[in-house]
Amino acid sequence: MNKLPGVCLVVSGPGFLHALGGMANATINCWPLIVIGGSSDRNQETMGAFQEFPQVEAGRLYNKLSVRPSSVEVIPAVIEKAVRTSIYGRPGSCYIDIPGDFVNLQVNKSSVKYVECCLPPPISMAEHSAVSKAASILALSKQPLLIIGKGAAYSHAENNIRKLVDLCGLPFLPTPMAKGVVPDNHPNCVAAARSMALQHADVIILFGARLNWILHFGLPPRFRQDVKVIQIDVCAEELGNNVKPAAILLGDINAVTKQLLEEFSKRSFKYPSNSEWWKRLRVKIKNNEERSKGLALQKSLPMNYYTVFHHIREMIPKNCILVSEGANTMDIGRTMLPNCYPRQRLDAGTFGTMGVGLGFAIAAAMVAKDRAPGKQVVCIEGDSAFGFSGMEVETICRYNLPILIIIVNNNGIYTGLDANSWKEMLKLGNPATCVPPVSLLPNSHYEEIMSAFGGKGYFVKTPEELRNALKASVTDKQTPSLINVMIDPQSERKKQEFPWLTRSNL
Ligand code: ADP
Ligand code: MG
Repeated sequence: MNKLPGVCLVVSGPGFLHALGGMANATINCWPLIVIGGSSDRNQETMGAFQEFPQVEAGRLYNKLSVRPSSVEVIPAVIEKAVRTSIYGRPGSCYIDIPGDFVNLQVNKSSVKYVECCLPPPISMAEHSAVSKAASILALSKQPLLIIGKGAAYSHAENNIRKLVDLCGLPFLPTPMAKGVVPDNHPNCVAAARSMALQHADVIILFGARLNWILHFGLPPRFRQDVKVIQIDVCAEELGNNVKPAAILLGDINAVTKQLLEEFSKRSFKYPSNSEWWKRLRVKIKNNEERSKGLALQKSLPMNYYTVFHHIREMIPKNCILVSEGANTMDIGRTMLPNCYPRQRLDAGTFGTMGVGLGFAIAAAMVAKDRAPGKQVVCIEGDSAFGFSGMEVETICRYNLPILIIIVNNNGIYTGLDANSWKEMLKLGNPATCVPPVSLLPNSHYEEIMSAFGGKGYFVKTPEELRNALKASVTDKQTPSLINVMIDPQSERKKQEFPWLTRSNL
């Protein structure tokens, strides 16, 4: 997330096809990526060449740019354009196709068109009148709410957003991957009263978050019908999606936040900390935190999700990079595990996709090795989510990466079966027809995959065993480890207050 694209090389045909998911994931999350794919020799195209596939055409749907250089001479110019396109405006993925016959072509050096690398992305600011309009709307608000999205994290706006929160005394709510832009333990964080904050806010300022499914499209019943939305985004086409904004601030979040700070300083605006809104939010936060605490401290075995996360929270390093995927594992993990630093949490993202966690963990650990040696990556997976790319454990061990994988194992997807119920059901006949399709094999020893490749594996069933395994893995963080935590297969999320709050979203 340093505003340079990631680069991925893939082979032709199936290699390219496997990367399409990654390109789509990058573009949908607004992350810069360049994929360079080999493809069949040009003179064999349409003849059924080895791994022939219409790659440029297929890449078009998932990329900001999908292109084959017309000759070897123009490759530098095409690379420059791809880098620029991936990071300018709304970031996204770009695909460059290199036919096999290019590899052995001879070119005259003097005919190669060298292009210097592009300038860093331009930083645009909002119209002055829009900034002043936004400030006036906010000054009249009785129940304001600031929503921080992952665009704010990407824009490195943490210092200015935090200043704004402190200066104006506003309640804020991070979206899942914006956690840590302002630390979750900041007194103005209302994540524990999320539903209430969204449902009753009369003015919302969006710092780089789309009003998509993650934010219930900005519509009732999650939001007030008359909510006034102040939208900050670098992408003009995003402004006004689903809800007509009361003010639009087109520009880079960090730069626009600075503009807002200046405007509010001029007006000496401070939202009163003793307002009715703050009182209601605080009561709700306290109640919700107590409910989670009650569940976390339950002594019964097998453990529930809240107990597991309670011990993980106490024992993992505060500055670790957290990767989180799974259904309940991700949803409950988001509420139970605080983030204190920006750009340290990766999850299923805008796509809500599973199977990306181990790849994210490997990429994060590789980057951290260079830039923040000693930083540990803690990757918390549901058992089903782990299954999508579990063999990446070999990659983790091959590179000896400081990654701790914790599998919160409920023998299934959403819920599973305990070993006895599984056996009973099998007596009825074929597992394909007798056991629920969401259940996975009970008591699977995923930790043995880690020990198979030389890392440390732990199978734990009690809080004490969990704490011992966590302690050992955090102390010896250089050795990859996997803790397989058996929980109650029927453990669920806290009961939601509203029936429409059953999806894995905010
Ligand atoms: P979240 O998942 O956190 O809700 P989204 O991915 O929906 O966030 O939204 C991120 C938004 O941030 C996108 O609309 C994107 O255009 C915007 N964005 C990305 N980088 C910047 C930036 N530097 N300045 C302003 N907006 C940005
Ligand atoms: Mg599971």
